[in-house]
Formats: sequence, structure tokens, C-alpha cells
Amino acid sequence: MSAISEGANLYVEAAWRSAGDDGVLDVLNPADESVLGMVAAATVADAAQAVAAAAAAQPAWARVPIVERGDRLRRLADLIEADADRFTALLVSEVGKPTHEAQAEVGFAVEFLRYNARWDRILSGDILSGDAPGEVIHLLRVPLGVVVAICPWNFPLAVLCRKLAPALLTGNTVVIKPSEVTPLSSVALVELIDRHLDLPPGTVNLVTGGPAVGAELVGNPATAMVSFTGHRDTGKAVMRSAADNLTRVALELGGKAPAIVLHDADLDLAVPAILQARHTNAGQVCTSAERVLVHRDVVGPFVERYVAAAEALVVGDPSGSVDMGPMANRAQVQKTAAAVERAIADGASVRTGGEPPSGPAYETGFWYAPTVLTEVSRDAAILREETFGPVTPIVPIDSLDDALAIANDSRYGLSAYVFSRDYSSVMRTVDELQFGEIYVNRTLGESVHAHHAGLKESGIGGEDGKWGILKYTHVKTAYHRYS
Ligand code: NAD
Repeated sequence: MSAISEGANLYVEAAWRSAGDDGVLDVLNPADESVLGMVAAATVADAAQAVAAAAAAQPAWARVPIVERGDRLRRLADLIEADADRFTALLVSEVGKPTHEAQAEVGFAVEFLRYNARWDRILSGDILSGDAPGEVIHLLRVPLGVVVAICPWNFPLAVLCRKLAPALLTGNTVVIKPSEVTPLSSVALVELIDRHLDLPPGTVNLVTGGPAVGAELVGNPATAMVSFTGHRDTGKAVMRSAADNLTRVALELGGKAPAIVLHDADLDLAVPAILQARHTNAGQVCTSAERVLVHRDVVGPFVERYVAAAEALVVGDPSGSVDMGPMANRAQVQKTAAAVERAIADGASVRTGGEPPSGPAYETGFWYAPTVLTEVSRDAAILREETFGPVTPIVPIDSLDDALAIANDSRYGLSAYVFSRDYSSVMRTVDELQFGEIYVNRTLGESVHAHHAGLKESGIGGEDGKWGILKYTHVKTAYHRYS
């Protein structure tokens, strides 16, 4: 396959082409607003063709022995690793994350592929005795059909591989829909697949575009499963639309993670861990520490140290040696600024930040300074709605009971953090926090073999580990009467 030309990056049935109406979308570098490239703005008809191609290819892909499907994933992992510098540069330029974070994302993507590939020797069904003499029951894990993978812009490569790897390993075919903000790393990944993996045409398809393209993929009756990561409200729209065809959904949505610092916490550990959990990817991570609840006995020294550490963060060109880059787009900056203004109107004090950083380096691009708020009212919207920016509201708490009550008073339930040296307190938080993923005395970062799943409005589904891979399968039962 020859190299694709700009804007002709729809990949349907193993062929590259432009959008049906030749529409294109610009992709911006959030650090300076320059145009990084153009991708096709797929039409609804293009999306429907991609689903049709995936549906036509699926029986052939399911017949490929699972160990060979695993080999394709291992090969793809090797290819990404060999091209890690290019993928890192793409993530730095299209997301705006610093180089060390982009390198970590590339590594995470590779790990998803390798971990899921290992299931080629593990995935199994069951054989049960029948209820009648001469009968045996045989339960098989079978693919679902076409999986639509809809991705957000904050981890475009890792989230894509998190979906692609289990879907392909289990014999499904895939239509990828990257975020319109960050499609370039997905195009690069599909280029590798096209050149080197020798998949049956239609096994992997790529459509770039915005919400209308996603909506067509979700509502298409030939789609068997939608694996969606994105905003809570979009997830709800996806679920409503999928209901028409009873299409399976896995929804990984937003969060409002509390970070609880108890009176006996080690502040040398808690301050940098929470700082990292708030400022990684400029605060645009679903598991970011979004509200910090600190025991009154230690809130004074905690705030002093946290503000000093936030002020010491180097914010700048993500390709340089910095701690934090720009936000992903203008809308994110506006949303963050509006959340801070509302918190101030609700009574909060700004201890640092509270506006974009100033200076010539920030004149273009989408910037917001690390911001710390205190005197935050317990009813304030900043403690309830996902901010998704580098803003830390700090609230004093009186006790563990108080912390648990504030933490659980949320429509979200993705992740939470706890800092304490007392394991009876820690285990109480693990038992009573209504969150799917709890980090004890450490910062953020999931493992590919664990499980990533939110409660409440943080989603339904769950990815990674053995529970994640099984979601891409159906259990088919055969009753055999042999005598
Ligand atoms: P988003 O919901 O705006 O967009 C996500 C994807 O959905 C994009 O590809 C978009 O084009 C597509 N889309 C938009 N409207 C659609 C529709 N009606 N039907 C189908 N697809 C549609 O989210 P975003 O702004 O890209 O990402 C940020 C959000 O994602 C945050 O809330 C964050 O917490 C969440 N997130 C969650 C996880 C997790 O694992 N739980 C991981 C990363 C991000």
C-alpha cells in the first residue's frame, strides 16, 4: 500500500480514500495553534460503509486461529515500539502532552497489545455435564461481530489500543473513530497495520470526523458493540442510541476523583503524588485528582507545600523539558476558566494561578496555569462537575467519616486516592468509597492486567485484565446428546 496523501486517510476495506464529499478537518498543535495536518471529515455514508466492510470481513477474521490473531497483536506492538519516537512526537504535537508523558503513553499502548495477545493461550470456555445421560454441555467464547471503538483526545493512542487489542484478539472486526481533535496518531497506527499486518480486508477500518460520524457508527444496526471512552453526556447519548438496536455498550466516562489526606498521612508522599495526579496531561485525565480533602490537623502545611510545588511546575512547549504543556484545545481552556470564575463567585480564594500564564511563550496556544483554590464552599460546582484542567480545590475535613461523606456525595465514581499510614483507615476507605479504582499512598496510573471501570455516572463496562477482554465475547452454549 502506498503512503496516504493528506486528507485521504479513511481506511475502509483495506483501501485509503477521501471523504465522500472531499471534506477535511484541520488538526491543530495546541502549543501554538499551527496546523499540523488535515484529515478527512467522513460523511455519514462513509461511516456506514466502514461498518459494512467490517461486518463483511468478520466471519473470515473469526476463522483465523486465535494464536495467529495474537501474533498480529505482538507484531503491531513491535512495530509501534520500533517507531516509538515518531508516535511520541505525534502525541506531543497533537495532544500537547510533555515528551515524557507521550513516551509513557506509547509504552502503555504497546503493553495493551502484548497483554491481550497473551490471552491467545488463555481464553477458554467450559464443558459441563448435561442433566440427562449421554449429554454434555459445551460453552464457547465467541466474538460479537463489529466493534466500534470511539476514542477521546486525551490518550488517543493508548485508549485506542486498549479497545483494539481485546476486540481483535477475540475475533471481532473493528471500526475506529478517533477524536476529531487528535486523529493523527490513529492514522499512523492504521498505516502500520495496513503495511505490515496482512489482515483480511475490512478487519480494521478507520473513519475520522466528529459527532455525526460517531452517531452513525453507534446507531448502525450492523454494529454489535460500541466501546466508547469520552464525556459522560456523550456516553449517555451513545447508550440511548445503542438501545434502538440493543447494541452492547462499554462506556468509560468522566470522573471527579477525591484525594483524601488523613491526619497521619506522609506529606512528603502525598504532596507530589497528588500534584502529579492533578497536573498530568494538564489535568485532562479521567482519573485526575479533582478535589483534595485534607484533615484539618495537616491542611495548613499541606496547602503551603502544595502551592509551592504547583508554582514550581515548569509550564511550556511540550517538546521541551517541561512538567506541563498546553491544554488540548480552546474549549478546554474556556471550560477551565469558567469553572474557576464560578468557584470564586461561590467564595473560593485563589492561592496561585487562576488565569492563563503570561509572557510571550503563551501568546498563542491553549494555556492555563496550575491553580490552587482554598475556602471552597462544600456545595461549590467545582467540587461536583468534572473540571478536566489543572485546578486543585482543597477542602479541610474533620474526620474520616467527613471525608467519606464528601467523597461519596458525587454522581461520578471512577477513581479515588487515599493517603494514610493507618491501615484500618485505609481499608475502611477501600470498603466504603463508591469508586471503581482506588489508589492508596500513590499517584495515578492503571495496570493493563488490572481493571479500569467506573461506578455511577462514570460508566458501565470496564476495560483491561481478564474482565475487560471477556466483554468483547459472547458465551454460546451447545447441548450435545451423544447417546
Ligand atoms: P467527548 O465525549 O466529547 O468525545 C469522545 C468521542 O466521542 C470523540 O471521538 C467524539 O467525536 C465522539 N462523539 C461525540 N459525540 C458523539 C455522539 N453523539 N455519538 C458518538 N460519538 C460521539 O469526550 P472528549 O472531550 O474527547 O474526552 C474527554 C472526556 O473523556 C472526559 O470526560 C474524560 O473524563 C473522559 N475520559 C474517560 C476515560 C475513562 O477511561 N473513563 C478515559 C479518557 C477520557
